[in-house]
Amino acid sequence: MEKTLVLIKPDAFQKHHTGDIIRIYEQEGFRIVAMKLMQMTRKLAAKHYVEHIGRPYYDDLETFMTSAPIVAMVLEGEDAIARVRRLNGKTNPAEAEEGTIRKLYAESGSRNAVHASDSPESAAREIHIFFNETELFD
Ligand code: ADP
Ligand code: MG
Repeated sequence: MEKTLVLIKPDAFQKHHTGDIIRIYEQEGFRIVAMKLMQMTRKLAAKHYVEHIGRPYYDDLETFMTSAPIVAMVLEGEDAIARVRRLNGKTNPAEAEEGTIRKLYAESGSRNAVHASDSPESAAREIHIFFNETELFD
């Protein structure tokens, strides 16, 4: 069993797609082991997106991610990291496959509804940015 960090981003939260998105993950058999509603600070955004600092879109990304609440959650399942990335779809919704969360709910390549960890190393790092051990229901 693998765990991955998912964020429902401000665009999807504000458009009331939180329930739709969680249903997709649950219907695929993933178990929610942690979840919270929160607003990211610039400091937290910089920690989470550290590898993107300095890229041309970074300031816009930080402004967007701190603009409204997000839902942070940890999902558990077999091959969860790769399977959740596939369910989310490509970063740019114009390139995302039919039926993926980004195809269904993303507005653009920056306001793209969801985040998910991209490797076991990222998942371990990102889960502990958002949750401590007592908040994980294994
Ligand atoms: P993913 O979220 O699919 O893992 P990346 O790690 O490449 O994608 O980028 C992280 C986030 O930064 C994206 O989800 C998106 O919100 C934003 N982003 C990435 N590339 C761009 C870009 N070229 N223009 C605007 N925003 C971008
Ligand atoms: Mg990424």
